[in-house]
Amino acid sequence: MSNQIVIAYFPVFHGGVRDFIRRTCQNPGTRLMLVDEGLAKQLSGIDEPYMVSAWDMARGLGKLLSMDDLDVRVLDMTNLRLLPNWDLVVAQSRVCRLLVEKYLSNWQVTFDSAFVHWDHDNVMAESTFPTDRVVTLDEFVTGIVERAYAEAAKSPCYWRQVGAVAYRDGKILGAADAYNTYCPTDDTGYAEGDVRTYVEAGTKSEICNSIHAEAKLTAIVAKNGDNLVGASVYVTCAPCIGCAQLLIEHGVKQIAFSTGGAYVGVDRLLKDAGVETVKVQLPDDYFV
Ligand SMILES: [Zn+2]
Repeated sequence: MSNQIVIAYFPVFHGGVRDFIRRTCQNPGTRLMLVDEGLAKQLSGIDEPYMVSAWDMARGLGKLLSMDDLDVRVLDMTNLRLLPNWDLVVAQSRVCRLLVEKYLSNWQVTFDSAFVHWDHDNVMAESTFPTDRVVTLDEFVTGIVERAYAEAAKSPCYWRQVGAVAYRDGKILGAADAYNTYCPTDDTGYAEGDVRTYVEAGTKSEICNSIHAEAKLTAIVAKNGDNLVGASVYVTCAPCIGCAQLLIEHGVKQIAFSTGGAYVGVDRLLKDAGVETVKVQLPDDYFV
């Protein structure tokens, strides 16, 4: 029999919750404890008016998962202090991290990194990008990477220079390359100042007077009377969530890149949209 307690905060039920429970509670005797809404609010200060109550969730989980022997209970302020001295596995989320910090700091806790729901830390985290394929520069379509980096070199952005190229059947679409820049001209950010000077890095991405390379690329293709349906796009740095959404909606079938990670689950977004992702590995001396 397991001497393990799994603690989690589930404001909703979805596939991530199902997979987490099936994986962590498969050993007989494992006890699953769901943080109740009162304790969650006390820890986070946030009221979740639409969350499923922990009591309802506890009552229904065994049936929902066809796990008749699932030992599921509600964790509240009363029984929190009466936990048996078992191994603790805690699902990553802000509420659970606050719980451990405040009440379980003396316990040996193993955090489980399952994706259960968005919280501050997994919104802000940059993860490695698990692409469908990894290829070397020699194995990739000839000339595309060089063209994209030539574009990136034109960028006036002091922070990050990115270049993007669209191609279909191994051929670059007419003039379909772009770099990130200010609008309406490359000099605007210097003449008027960059509004992001006053914004903390990594926050409030909408406060920006520049345009990303992929967005500009999309506009250039449209102005040329072409489209990106079934096309591929190589971008020097992995796309942000907004650009990934834009390219998906334009019908791009493959996105390749060489640097950067995945923010806000952009890797899952592209996979769900049926877009193939390719990492093009550049030789160590590529930029020398
Ligand atoms: Zn972007």
